[in-house]
Amino acid sequence: MAQRAKSGDKRRKCKLSTPNPLAETWTSPFEMPPFERIKVAEFLPAFDKGFAQHRREIAAVLRNRQPATFANVIDALERSGDLLNRISAVFFNLAATDTNEEIQAIERALAPRFARHRMRIYQNTTLLGRVRGLLKTRRRLKLSKEQACVLERYHRAFINAGAGLPPKARKRMAAIAARMSVLGTHFSQNLLADEQAFVLVLDGEADLAGLPEPIRAAAAQTAAERGHKGKHAITLQRSSIEPFLQYSARRDLREKAFNAWITRGAKGGRTDNRKIVAEVLALRAERAKLLGFKTAAHFALEFSMAKTPTSVRKLLMEVWGPARTRAGEERNQLQQCVQAEGSNFELAPWDWRYYAEKVRKAHFAVDDGEIKPFLQLDSVIAAAFDVAGKLFDLTFAERKDLPVYHPEVRIFEVKRGERHVGLFLGDYFARPSKHSGAWMSSWRKQQRLTGDITPIVVNVMNFAKGRPGEPTLLSLDDARTLFHEFGHGLHGLLSNVTYPSVSGTSVEKDFVELPSQLYEHWLTRHEVLSRFARHYKTGKSMPPELLKRLESARNFNQGFKTVEYLAAAIVDLDLHVHGDAEGIDVDGFEREVLKRIDMPSEIVMRHRIPHFQHIMGGYAAGYYSYLWSEVMDADAFQAFEESGHIFDAKLARRLHDHIYAAGGSRAAVDAYIAFRGRLPSTQALLKKRGLVASTTAR
Ligand SMILES: [Zn+2]
Repeated sequence: MAQRAKSGDKRRKCKLSTPNPLAETWTSPFEMPPFERIKVAEFLPAFDKGFAQHRREIAAVLRNRQPATFANVIDALERSGDLLNRISAVFFNLAATDTNEEIQAIERALAPRFARHRMRIYQNTTLLGRVRGLLKTRRRLKLSKEQACVLERYHRAFINAGAGLPPKARKRMAAIAARMSVLGTHFSQNLLADEQAFVLVLDGEADLAGLPEPIRAAAAQTAAERGHKGKHAITLQRSSIEPFLQYSARRDLREKAFNAWITRGAKGGRTDNRKIVAEVLALRAERAKLLGFKTAAHFALEFSMAKTPTSVRKLLMEVWGPARTRAGEERNQLQQCVQAEGSNFELAPWDWRYYAEKVRKAHFAVDDGEIKPFLQLDSVIAAAFDVAGKLFDLTFAERKDLPVYHPEVRIFEVKRGERHVGLFLGDYFARPSKHSGAWMSSWRKQQRLTGDITPIVVNVMNFAKGRPGEPTLLSLDDARTLFHEFGHGLHGLLSNVTYPSVSGTSVEKDFVELPSQLYEHWLTRHEVLSRFARHYKTGKSMPPELLKRLESARNFNQGFKTVEYLAAAIVDLDLHVHGDAEGIDVDGFEREVLKRIDMPSEIVMRHRIPHFQHIMGGYAAGYYSYLWSEVMDADAFQAFEESGHIFDAKLARRLHDHIYAAGGSRAAVDAYIAFRGRLPSTQALLKKRGLVASTTAR
């Protein structure tokens, strides 16, 4: 994921009586927030100040009686809201990574305030009038490409907030925005509550059957953190439950954990998300209609490369067929494995990962447990830095002198030669106070409008920590996630634009996964693994023949992975094409869609609707974007392969200039063509996933 959704209003009368560190000018190096002095109770008063200051700045723009110019409208809007942005960055990052009841209550209070604040600005008809005037005369304004993009974005933001609608519809739009922000906050807090509530405690050898040592170590550490010292524990974090499902020989425990996992957000009672989803979808459909769009999906796709639900569906279905067929073959193979073991049950969803691991071991002699000891967290971080050094000439040096919001957070200064590029924060370990998943977000965005502002980005993961004194070991999937989020991080760090609103990852939603997914390609290359994948005990590098086996097993289980993902992408699209303002029956809807596409009963979609965090935030009708971006990343990496050198300097330069540094300063299509000379086809993607007919032989 790139940015997590920020919720964003109810006025409270709070006065700043004592100095509030949140509202001061931060004097620490790089203006890092003074975390050690910030008290949670100071957030609301600071936000009051931030909102008020932003309102004053907007009022000043409105008071200007001079004829509208790019500078007195757009530049002025871009400069406004600095204090609010700074406080928001601190608060929402904290709310996602180290929350508690006090923070959650503030989050709920802030959500409708942000929605109202935003609407007050973006529904302002005078501002819209000035933006429209600029748009009409843009040819005469001699704007740069970047300025033209910024202007178009502002125009779209005003129109999409309803500023062009009659007063009654405008009012309704504001009410919808406020309600949606409240619902969004509840959704993610409910999900966290369901995740916190479940711990599977493993008591004794019988419960641990099948689990290799690195997984036991992580489970022991989790148990200690959750108050079950001396035992082992599995949580609903992906990095905890997935390895458990892969290795646990206890079918009953796999079933128990799996069912808890896939029913997050649908457990009935206070934390149930199904009604919330139904209401959000109905509101989105209503908003789309008010704005003149056919459906919420048409609205959501306006600013994307795909543009329409039809072109999204075309891509999804082009891949669904081959993926479905492959998954069927894989299922048969796993069922044979069940039989060969002397069992006669039908493969169930909680069996898939377990038997897939066995088949992988038997066919390719590749075992995740064999790989893990070679993938120490610190080495994988070093590998990610090294690749960035080779491609983009960056160096990373850890800084221990800067304030952090949690003792586990690490800060690295990023430089090119002697020049400071930005700060990179890594927050790697799972903890009960952290939301699940992995994401990148920005503390401070690169821009040159208000000075040479360098970026500060953070990568947040949920890795299971190793035992005290022992290194944290990653699975290959974990390592891929680290490279993925680091790719987003570089998109923020390498940004080279003037305007904040087009900085870094502020690009079309189906382009945003290109820098991250593309970066994953370097991880599994021999040039990288042979240097950085070293056994945590012996220090020996990963044997070449294990690397070879890994390579040959690359397409293993791709049917499952593709089907699991595509089902979620199709359900997401259908939910937003669905125009029923009355709200939907979430369970029934999911069942219907899956039936229509003939979803294999042994596979459960990657995120079921009640815990599908992506679609509550910026990825609504946008979960397809991983695949859309993958069409490009497969094609883009092919350019390096064709050159015969995965660090080819010329290509890396073009990649830097047109993809990683350009932000949203130009249309994504133009950026891609500038890098590759042409648009990609889906062939490279099908080949990458091993779904092309000619390469289906294992
Ligand atoms: Zn991502």
